[in-house]
Amino acid sequence: MSNERSERGLLLVVSSPSGAGKTTLCTRLRREFSGLEFSVSYTTRAPRMGEEHGKDYFFVDPETFEAMIRRDELAEYALVHGNNYGTSAPQVREALSRGRDLLFDIDFQGGRQLRHKFPEDVVLVFVLPPSMPELERRLRSRGTDAAEVIDRRLRMAREEIRHYGEYHYVIVNDDLDRAYDALRAVYVAERHRTLRRRGAAEAVISGQGSLLTIPGAAVRDAEGVP
Ligand code: ADP
Ligand code: 5GP
Repeated sequence: MSNERSERGLLLVVSSPSGAGKTTLCTRLRREFSGLEFSVSYTTRAPRMGEEHGKDYFFVDPETFEAMIRRDELAEYALVHGNNYGTSAPQVREALSRGRDLLFDIDFQGGRQLRHKFPEDVVLVFVLPPSMPELERRLRSRGTDAAEVIDRRLRMAREEIRHYGEYHYVIVNDDLDRAYDALRAVYVAERHRTLRRRGAAEAVISGQGSLLTIPGAAVRDAEGVP
């Protein structure tokens, strides 16, 4: 199945406090479903070791970020841990219109704005750590952050978790395989919602069903078609 569909794509938002395992889970989902595209955000924070411009983030200065807001080029934006972060509006519009699915690693403020703008297209998933001590253990064992950064993230975590009620799904990342199965199930089920399968149904009715499968396209999507 091609990742250009005749129906609308979906916007899969995954949020969690830092250290809960969202990057690990999302990386696995993208590896399994190559038709799921990652939304690369814009940020004013400095790149960390190993991060690539255009792959992890677009790193921009505050003036550029402000200009993007003025030109309405951000689908959502927020101040998170003292830095500005925002989602490219053209990337979202284009993905939706071409029927591609987008994965977002954004915070609850961003998820809320996207839900408001695209109520039918957004699926919100919140990843919870099994406990606060386990969250702390994971942050420390990851080894990417200084002690004071970890302390700040732990203080923020409770505040972020309080927003779980704004999400459609809550996944506790205790056992990684079980949490992944849950995320995968959410994605696959949401892909099969009637509002996203109208194109397929209408194609069958009109006798054009075979046109939905493009020979030679090796992209595996959430309908399970390789
Ligand atoms: P986030 O993106 O939410 O900040 P990461 O995906 O970087 O979190 O995970 C934080 C750390 O916890 C990493 O070292 C990761 O390997 C580890 N981790 C993720 N999920 C689990 C799990 N279910 N059990 C144990 N460790 C985990
Ligand atoms: P980090 O700096 O650790 O990569 O990300 C910090 C926080 O910012 C994370 O909670 C992440 O989900 C959030 N974030 C990253 N990109 C965006 C974005 O485009 N918009 C919003 N609202 N939050 C984002």
